[in-house]
Amino acid sequence: MTTLVIAEHDNASIKSATLNAVTAAVACGGDVHVLVAGHNAQGAADAASKVAGVAKVLLADSAAFGHSLAENVAAQVLAIAGDYSHILFPATASGKNVAPRVAAKLDVAQISDIIKVDSPDTFERPIYAGNAIATVQSGDKVKVITVRTTGFDAAATSGGSAAVETVAAAADAGKSTFVKAELAKNDRPELTAAKIVVSGGRALGSAEKFQEVMTPLADKLGAAIGASRAAVDAGYAPNDLQVGQTGKIVAPQLYVAAGISGAIQHLAGMKDSKVIVAINKDEEAPIFSVADYGLVADLFTAVPELAKAL
Ligand SMILES: Cc1cc2nc3c(=O)[nH]c(=O)nc-3n(C[C@H](O)[C@H](O)[C@H](O)COP(=O)(O)OP(=O)(O)OC[C@H]3O[C@@H](n4cnc5c(N)ncnc54)[C@H](O)[C@@H]3O)c2cc1C
Repeated sequence: MTTLVIAEHDNASIKSATLNAVTAAVACGGDVHVLVAGHNAQGAADAASKVAGVAKVLLADSAAFGHSLAENVAAQVLAIAGDYSHILFPATASGKNVAPRVAAKLDVAQISDIIKVDSPDTFERPIYAGNAIATVQSGDKVKVITVRTTGFDAAATSGGSAAVETVAAAADAGKSTFVKAELAKNDRPELTAAKIVVSGGRALGSAEKFQEVMTPLADKLGAAIGASRAAVDAGYAPNDLQVGQTGKIVAPQLYVAAGISGAIQHLAGMKDSKVIVAINKDEEAPIFSVADYGLVADLFTAVPELAKAL
């Protein structure tokens, strides 16, 4: 029984979501191999080889993988899938883009968003926006799984000494071409990897106020900024800051929610945070039911005061 983890990387280094997937892979039992499909990706492969728990790194290097097009990466995974009992992807935008293609071609059911491995064929996953946990058992020969990164600790980036083996790169699937990437520039920590997240809700009232009130607090704490969907839909914050069921799932050490009511769809994205601080002027707001520290106050006074005091 051997598990393959599909690495998420930028060719030079491994992205942190891969480390959580490695921990899930170790829990599946058996050896853990990591596939790095990239272009000039020796750096990423070397980084993967040092990850604790990894027995072997497979490097498929080709221009076709330069931009991680899902069609090409899926073809590569399928080319080597026969050797594996489990194939694990982080449940990120890119992992979720490739995994279903692999599962469909292998004619198996994808097991999505697992948060726990009970045994090699039995897994736990949240349903109903995290309000219930389903235990699912799979009889498929190969388990194609996406891993909720907040459900597993990150594997250590050192301590491993896996061999890096070059494998033949699958041909370009020819179904898609890379046109361009427009990357939002951000000096802040990445939302899903940040240790501290400060989020604002509809109460902020405008994009200008959102910036004016939330940014100084985030700067003081070295935090990533998040937002509720209402704040995003109203144009107060960009789409990629949305936390929740249809946004990003975060579990930082500290989550500060200002002017967020705490709808279940928002809680689904942050309730596993270690310490939750809520600032809301309505003492009945549902966010207080998950908060470790609650402040019933007007955020336009409380947040600047907090930033000043830090
Ligand atoms: C299918 C589906 C998916 C969804 N996915 C998501 C998701 O991923 N993420 C998400 O966030 N939501 C999501 N939602 C929307 C969710 O149901 C809520 O509508 C949304 O989270 C509300 O955002 P909010 O808390 O900012 O706004 P509101 O619910 O309007 O709450 C604003 C809060 O601010 C407080 N407030 C007002 N003024 C002040 C002040 N001056 N000082 C302090 N507090 C103040 C109010 O008391 C209130 O509690 C989804 C909904 C659906 C149906």
